[in-house]
Amino acid sequence: MQEIQTQSHVDGWPLELLETLDLGILMLDKQYNILDWNRFIENHSRLVASEVLNQSIFDIFPEIDKPWFKGKCEPVFSVKTPMFILWEQRPYLVKFDSTRPITSSTPYMFQNVTIYPIKDANDEVERLCVLIHDVTDQAIGKKQIQALNSELEKVSRTDGLTGLFNRRYWQERYEREYRLSIRNKNTPSSLMILDIDHFKKVNDTYGHQAGDEVIRVLADLITETMRTTDIIGRYGGEEFVVFLPNTDLTNAKIVAERLREKSERCPVVHEDTTISFTISIGLAEFSTNYANTTTWLEDADQALYTAKHEGRNRVCLAKV
Ligand code: GH3
Ligand code: MG
Ligand code: MG
Repeated sequence: MQEIQTQSHVDGWPLELLETLDLGILMLDKQYNILDWNRFIENHSRLVASEVLNQSIFDIFPEIDKPWFKGKCEPVFSVKTPMFILWEQRPYLVKFDSTRPITSSTPYMFQNVTIYPIKDANDEVERLCVLIHDVTDQAIGKKQIQALNSELEKVSRTDGLTGLFNRRYWQERYEREYRLSIRNKNTPSSLMILDIDHFKKVNDTYGHQAGDEVIRVLADLITETMRTTDIIGRYGGEEFVVFLPNTDLTNAKIVAERLREKSERCPVVHEDTTISFTISIGLAEFSTNYANTTTWLEDADQALYTAKHEGRNRVCLAKV
């Protein structure tokens, strides 16, 4: 690193120190030709500095995005202040293999890059010093935390038995949709609440495990019957709720009937037994009369109660 050593601000720094740093140091001239680099870069590129002297960095490292890198360097030449590039903006400047054996998911080295102006005796910047920091551990740590957080978020909103939204998260989504319904008064939306008929008997006759299987099968039936934009949740034990955006009561009833019929025709096979089940459904369409989400849900629940009262295995609509 003779070039660096001759610079006034690094004068006196032992060459050995620069060579053993766990940091890439690279010197460029104004034409982006390589003037020198240290052992870190030699080790990772497998090219010694003397082999690449006066060659364009873009020829040696074709992976560098030329216009982007020039865009970063030009202000350093003109304004004479350093430029910092974080791995989050761009994972690396030059593609070096990652040296971590446990990080096979990350085959390359993540890098933070600093571009320093090197001033000559006339205070002009004719050369740049590019520092390449290996931040692979930091990047992997952050990525792992991000992945963990998104997994946690998913778990926290999911019902363990069915994989549907749990009550708390469904309620959150429902409230958001309710506010949208208030704003878009002319776009209809409907609310569905459904409950398995005589479910206690299923548990009593076939056992709790079999009951769980019925709940799981019904959850799948609901998912395959509804549109992907519908918001489905497990509200309680064997009670489910669905928010149907852009759906008036007539269309909600068609969907509800389809689901009711499917449930009736879909016996659940658990171990050696076949379990038939039916469901009752209550529906309520959005109206500006609903002052909050609770009153709307209460109306749908009242319709469900009517369906139960009238003999079960049926769909009932809330009175408007
Ligand atoms: P109805 O037709 O009036 O709805 O009668 P029902 O027997 O279904 O009555 P209800 O809805 O009150 O009973 C729900 C039962 O569901 C009671 C509870 O033991 C059972 N249950 C609640 N959660 C679970 C669960 O996660 N798994 C199983 N297997 N059973 C559950
Ligand atoms: Mg029930
Ligand atoms: Mg119930």
